[in-house]
Amino acid sequence: MSVAKSAEPIRTKPPFKRSYVDRRAISVVRRLQEEGFETYLVGGCVRDLLLGSRPKDFDIATSAKPETVRRLFRRSRMIGRRFRIVHVHHGREIFEVSTFRAEPPKQEGKDVKVIRSDNVYGSVQEDANRRDFRVNGLFLDPIAGEIVDWVGGLQDIEDRVLHSIGDPEVRFREDPVRILRLIKFMRRLDLAPGDAEIAAADRHAHDLSHAAPARLAEEVFRLLSTGQSEGVFEDLEALKIRRYVIPELVKWLRASDTNRDALHHRLRALDEMAAHGLHADYDFHLAVLFGPRVEQEFDPATRRGKLKEYPQIAAAILGEFQQRARLPRVAVSCATNLLLAQLRLDPPEYVPSGSRKRWNRKALMAQPWFPLALSYLKLRLKAEGRSPELWQEWHDRYGEFGQDEE
Ligand code: ATP
Ligand code: MG
Repeated sequence: MSVAKSAEPIRTKPPFKRSYVDRRAISVVRRLQEEGFETYLVGGCVRDLLLGSRPKDFDIATSAKPETVRRLFRRSRMIGRRFRIVHVHHGREIFEVSTFRAEPPKQEGKDVKVIRSDNVYGSVQEDANRRDFRVNGLFLDPIAGEIVDWVGGLQDIEDRVLHSIGDPEVRFREDPVRILRLIKFMRRLDLAPGDAEIAAADRHAHDLSHAAPARLAEEVFRLLSTGQSEGVFEDLEALKIRRYVIPELVKWLRASDTNRDALHHRLRALDEMAAHGLHADYDFHLAVLFGPRVEQEFDPATRRGKLKEYPQIAAAILGEFQQRARLPRVAVSCATNLLLAQLRLDPPEYVPSGSRKRWNRKALMAQPWFPLALSYLKLRLKAEGRSPELWQEWHDRYGEFGQDEE
């Protein structure tokens, strides 16, 4: 790899308060250091603290081997196939502890240098260099109160830019999922990507066809959780990546601007709701992604569609994605329920009044997924530019229903 290896890293005092760092994470680091192992907090948490946001989790990197970490912490578990890491439980928190790793040696005589196994232990500097982006390659020693920067991450944070560690051409070819990570970080953290990174993403987008579908699907859900999903989908479109991450929707999206707009309006509504505290899960995100297509396929004005066929139609469309992405089947059935419930919460004209009368509101509101279906109604109304009145009515009705139950 063509990373300029500086002999010494930049060492600096963290500009944030020590109290922002999780106390339990510090105690895990301390324990490992007391046993004589070089240990730091690393990656996303250091980046987020420097950018002034609250880290999702605190990952730990250490010179101790996984077996040693496992032995030192009674409440710990070894996980991972691609590389072994240890989950250390502390209260209700779980900390991921990984051993410093080096870039695996290049396989002689092979053109495509795709990373397949990462279990090559290394020094802290090597561990910094194998990471994806400079802003993700920072180490924090919370005991000494020091940030250690081997890769130029501090400068990038100051400049609010996103550069890969080493040549992006090489790094995106080794692992094309890094292209999705580039989009995720630039949108979520509002960092400007380097020109070389964008050019390399463009050139290597097609390598995503070799990536494991389950890994791609996981990134799709992370992209939907950025709070900037509309912008993310514009990037996916511009870089011609949609065909690799949501092949089930590509033909439909390209068929008409109305289809594309229907999805983008939903994504925009999702982002607005996320900004107001909505924490959506797989099932909700699946309903956001596939809802417009399911609704369109179902609408008898455009296609087929008898009311009782709705679940099959939804399951057929969502099922393709679920199988490719190896999602649990229950995620699809929950997403289907959210979509199906819309016919009752907000009946389209084609639903005959006979069926409306037979519907039992209480039975609907008693479903465990009802609050989610209600949130989805809110999202749809927002996306379609309609008033939230209907949502409010159901919301009030549900409030009263909850009181009846007590
Ligand atoms: P998030 O806040 O989304 O969790 P993160 O930076 O913590 O962001 P993770 O996916 O949790 O991202 O990964 C933790 C760290 O592992 C990253 O910060 C990065 O240093 C490294 N990393 C993750 N994925 C890759 C990859 N594909 N190639 C190289 N390094 C990676
Ligand atoms: Mg993380």
